[in-house]
Amino acid sequence: MSGKYVYAFGGGKADGKAEMKALLGGKGANLAEMAKLGIPVPPGFTITTEVCNYYYKHKKVYPPQLKNEVKRALANVESIMKAKFGDPENPLLLSVRSGARSSMPGMMETVLNVGLNEKTIKGLIAKTGNERFVYDAYRRLIMMYSDVVMEKAAGIEPEEGKGVRIQLEHAMDKMKQKRGIVQDTDLTAADLKELVKVFKTKVKQVLGKEFPDDPYEQIWGGIGAVFHSWNGKRAVSYRRIEGIPDEWGTAVSVQSMVFGNMGDHSATGVAFTRNPATGEDIFYGEWLVNAQGEDVVAGLRTPNPLNVLNKTDDTRHLKSLEEEMPKLYKELAGIRNRLEKHYRDMQDIEFTIQEGRLWMLQTRTGKRNGPAAVKMAVEMAKKGLISEATAVLRVRPAQLDELLHDMLDPAEERKARVLAKGLPAGPGGGTGQVVFTADDAEKWAKDGKKVILVRNETSPEDVHGMHIAEAILTARGGMTSHAALVARGWGKCCIVGCSAMEIDMGKKLMNVGGKTIKEGDWISLNGSTGRVYEGKIASMRPDLETNKEYTQLMKWADKIRRLGVRTNADRPQDAAQARAFGAEGIGLTRTEHMFFGPERILAIREMIIAENEVDRRKAIMKLLPFQREDFMGILKAMQGLPVTIRLLDPPLHEFVTLEKEQTQELAKQLGITVKKLKARIDSLHELNPMLGHRGCRLGIAYPEITEMQARAIFEAAAELTKKGIKVHPEVMVPLVGSAAEYNHQEAIIRRMADEVMKEKRVKLSYLVGTMIEIPRAALTADEIAKTAEFFSFGTNDLTQTTFGISRDDIGGFLPIYLERKIFPEDPFQSLDESGVGQLVEMGTRKGRSTRPKLKVGICGEHGGDPRSIDLCHRVGMDYVSCSPFRVPIARLAAAHAALNNK
Ligand code: PEP
Ligand code: MG
Repeated sequence: MSGKYVYAFGGGKADGKAEMKALLGGKGANLAEMAKLGIPVPPGFTITTEVCNYYYKHKKVYPPQLKNEVKRALANVESIMKAKFGDPENPLLLSVRSGARSSMPGMMETVLNVGLNEKTIKGLIAKTGNERFVYDAYRRLIMMYSDVVMEKAAGIEPEEGKGVRIQLEHAMDKMKQKRGIVQDTDLTAADLKELVKVFKTKVKQVLGKEFPDDPYEQIWGGIGAVFHSWNGKRAVSYRRIEGIPDEWGTAVSVQSMVFGNMGDHSATGVAFTRNPATGEDIFYGEWLVNAQGEDVVAGLRTPNPLNVLNKTDDTRHLKSLEEEMPKLYKELAGIRNRLEKHYRDMQDIEFTIQEGRLWMLQTRTGKRNGPAAVKMAVEMAKKGLISEATAVLRVRPAQLDELLHDMLDPAEERKARVLAKGLPAGPGGGTGQVVFTADDAEKWAKDGKKVILVRNETSPEDVHGMHIAEAILTARGGMTSHAALVARGWGKCCIVGCSAMEIDMGKKLMNVGGKTIKEGDWISLNGSTGRVYEGKIASMRPDLETNKEYTQLMKWADKIRRLGVRTNADRPQDAAQARAFGAEGIGLTRTEHMFFGPERILAIREMIIAENEVDRRKAIMKLLPFQREDFMGILKAMQGLPVTIRLLDPPLHEFVTLEKEQTQELAKQLGITVKKLKARIDSLHELNPMLGHRGCRLGIAYPEITEMQARAIFEAAAELTKKGIKVHPEVMVPLVGSAAEYNHQEAIIRRMADEVMKEKRVKLSYLVGTMIEIPRAALTADEIAKTAEFFSFGTNDLTQTTFGISRDDIGGFLPIYLERKIFPEDPFQSLDESGVGQLVEMGTRKGRSTRPKLKVGICGEHGGDPRSIDLCHRVGMDYVSCSPFRVPIARLAAAHAALNNK
């Protein structure tokens, strides 16, 4: 505990600064920083995240000195604003907002206009001369406060449609209907005055309590509600998805209110210092005249473009701030430049204009999608704003996924019927079946369906469904609406503000473009143009080669990284794809994947069924030409680069799991009785096949398998070498647990190499090595490395055998383990550093103790996981190997590892 719980800001001074995010939350820290920079920020104070943690640890009570600290800070705000909280003549109004260390858009609560009551209303009317505005502010306070403080924070969970907010909204709609008006802004002062009365009665009726009139009760209620919302359902589920620790807590920023809804010289807006969807260096944003911030982000009114450059065909008719209030726009653009220079990164800002005066309410590092992250990072580095290394660190490896995103096939897209057009909020293509609620999205996706979540507008309550959906489509809202922000953060295809859709939630259908689309119907979205299509459209991968900034960023990353990056590939086309993505060789070819063609499978089954070595040898040799051809294909695709080929690994019975008819057919093909065939298949049955007769245990029991595979590899290598193609095969023995096992197999492999070299009269350069995927192999790595020339950590099996958990049967309890935090995450996705990681470190160290130049890599799934790659870097591996589409991610993650471990 720091002993200080409240940090003041405003009037060109601040107790805090940008670096204090852990304590003040992102919002509080940046408000302090802006105040220090002399940027106009409404004064206020931030209650630290330590108070949040204290509050939860002490049964929701505050530290005793908090009251006094708040009092002092409030007095400071009063003196800067020359107004007094709760004063009937000259009242100060406050906003109470949440602010976690990293932004959680819309996931926690806010209360605005705190301090309005029957007495202060009068003072404010006298001060502003604007009765309508004051009553509008008051009805907003009642709506927010009753919902957030009196209902949610009180733990009341009303039935669907019975919550206080909805009921108040209905009351307001009724009033509008009665008056024959559509817009909230058309309600008069008298209407609002009456509405406030209706609201208060309704609040009492629904919640059984009066709306509080005491400003201090209001402020402490607001503060408590923000802390309470840290553990609200949507905040918790957002934290799970984003991996934000519960212990961080939220800060609360209490700030003097400024109003964007004081008339036509007032406005509010949200902007990004660069375009967050494309990365272009263009000031980008939206604004609304005579409105409060919530009007822009809630997506209820479609906002105007900030400047002329932001206009699209759909918004060309709307006035920009640049045109309407040129002087203020210039001031704002100046602040934009200062903020970018100061923070050296794209900022997401909120501003309010109160009667011709500009106030900055917030700045934070803006969320951006992958393509935009790459473009901005490279352009900022080229301008000298940041270093190349910082540019590399700016792009999260997983964000590259979005550059590898599916796009709708343009040929099919041209032919498809356009249903409507909305705003292109998240690029890429998406196709799926329509669902209308987040819960349905989750349910359908669980059944293996691809869904598109269609909503009028999304709210943070929908995050679970949004996360699982292929794409998101909303009828309302702008580019900074909730749906747009969240989808962009995740790099998901998303279209918002598609106003042509008429959704009937009750019937689960929508009318759009002259069609009725029902739940379950297929639609496709182009999130880069905003077009919505009827039906399914095939998707395509984007062409990375034309993306100059990507190429540049990867060049910098390659210069920085020490780890090599290879790929796991079994087919020449995959190898070629991986090579195009920058793979520097193959780290794993699973040869069993080559056995499933119709002719091959018969030969392998014949071998399995054979009763003696002669028959087995005859059968297995039939596979030789096929395997030789396979190996030539991948060795050629990777010419000049190393290719690790693993000998047969899975238990044999996997090749003979047959239906009744198939058994009969096979018996016929093999010329034996069904009974005999069945008996043989039964004899292969194992209780724990993953720990049974597989890996090198096969090659030891049936050396002819190893002979055939090794021969096929070397014959392929010899043939290509003769053609002048440079090949570097590395033969890998799977599932070794002792040096004796390895040595047995190695002797066969080397004998085959010698035989082939002699027969073909060529000299081949090759390596023989092993996988380390059994704990005993890691423990005895020094002995194994006496003969093995390389190690490749098979962390799938190593995780399985270290934990004693079957990788195929983890599904039954993993969700429970994750939920109860028994596992921090799925150990098959991200390497368990404290357990399995020790074996990886020890295996590498011990191996190199006998063979200092031992080549070490990883070919388990973790080889494409950024966090695991960091560990691989730290233990001094030579390379990681992953699936082709993760190769760029691994290259970038390897660069991050090099920079983060300097
Ligand atoms: C491993 O076990 O990590 C591995 C790469 O092999 P497989 O997944 O084929 O068992
Ligand atoms: Mg394995």
